[in-house]
Amino acid sequence: MQAFEATNRYFDEAAGLMDLTGNMRTMMINPDRELRVEVVIEMDSGEIGNFVGYRVQHDNARGPFKGGLRYHPHVDQDEARSLASLMTWKTAVVDIPFGGGKGGVNCDPNKLSRGELERLTRKFVEKIHDFIGPDKDIPAPDVGTDGQVMAWIMNEYAKFHGFHPAVVTGKPVEFHGSAGREAATGYGVAIIARETLKKLGKPIAGTTFAIQGYGNVGSYTARFLHAQGAKIIAVSDAYGGLTNPDGIDIQDLDKHVAVNRKVVGFKGGDPFTNEQLLTMPVDVLIPAALGGVFDADIAQAVRAGLIVEAANGPTWPEADAVFKSRGIPVVPDILANAGGVIVSYFEWVQNLQHFRWPLEQIQREQETKMVESFHKIYELAQRKGCSLRTAAFMLAIKRVGRARVLGGI
Ligand code: NAD
Repeated sequence: MQAFEATNRYFDEAAGLMDLTGNMRTMMINPDRELRVEVVIEMDSGEIGNFVGYRVQHDNARGPFKGGLRYHPHVDQDEARSLASLMTWKTAVVDIPFGGGKGGVNCDPNKLSRGELERLTRKFVEKIHDFIGPDKDIPAPDVGTDGQVMAWIMNEYAKFHGFHPAVVTGKPVEFHGSAGREAATGYGVAIIARETLKKLGKPIAGTTFAIQGYGNVGSYTARFLHAQGAKIIAVSDAYGGLTNPDGIDIQDLDKHVAVNRKVVGFKGGDPFTNEQLLTMPVDVLIPAALGGVFDADIAQAVRAGLIVEAANGPTWPEADAVFKSRGIPVVPDILANAGGVIVSYFEWVQNLQHFRWPLEQIQREQETKMVESFHKIYELAQRKGCSLRTAAFMLAIKRVGRARVLGGI
């Protein structure tokens, strides 16, 4: 099964509990537009570098397409489709006026120099600039991209269309970005973990967490949880992991990662593999790396009491069924990691208003939106006797479908 099919499986599970016609289903599942472009640059060696870039625009019934850009060797059309579709449902779940899009370039950013990365980004924008824009499609950071890449996108776009900072979000704060955007996804994951634990009658303080992935999302999630007294007993990244049953000192770990760019080698924990992390006994397991982490076998081996999906698409449908049958609640990606797109929305609004909001206001409004969405979904799941994922999809499908009907086909 591929990623897009998996996303559609989740859509169908929810649609099956609603009165959705076949034609409506087809319209809502299929992407509106798909771009595939060749991105050719001169490498530092003087050789030609050939790369392929994608942008999938899934649905814009509720507003402009919105979603990240990923630079990774696994990027392809199917992955972009799946992630674009998830963005449609995510923006609807937290009720912000956007649709869903996603894209990226198939490359290994760790093997590119800064100059190559800049040329690649500018060439990609040169190829797609007519299809993006503040009222059309607004990219943002994802795996392998960051504020610097977003700054290059804004600058390159301006060469064709003039000054429009709202064309892209996740920009550096000193270059039309928003306070709180870099931390927003992790901040939101920590909020959702706290709200879910409350329902289970547990406080964050003293609860044990294992986090797979220590990039933007994983590291900020760890910081916010640690600050509330959580015990982070294992973390990992693409190079390996570490564990400490007494809790990892996240501030010390951050100092180590700032220098070494990886968690491996940190003295405050013992070496641990990713596989060990996924199957260790822990209260809360947080996948915060790539998609497709949990298959049916790993799901059988998981010994966590709760899973909070910080990554996009970490759970295959077969694994989701195993978690359901084993009674392990899963908070779905389209709710748990929606903090990033919420603050991207605030950044877009600030750019359009040419006005800045303080961090306290941004975090307060982000928290209000996430807590409200969580409770809506939790209550719907209780009422329908379904999983949180199915409830989240039901809420999203209802909102997107209503916008389609009101706007006219
Ligand atoms: P990132 O590139 O900053 O970090 C990714 C992390 O995952 C790195 O630490 C990397 O080493 C690690 N990793 C990669 N392969 C791994 C493996 N096999 N095992 C363990 N760790 C591995 O990316 P990010 O922005 O933190 O995104 C992480 C996830 O969160 C992605 O699924 C992304 O789509 C999702 N997400 C990100 C945002 C955002 O605002 N950045 C918003 C919503 C969802």
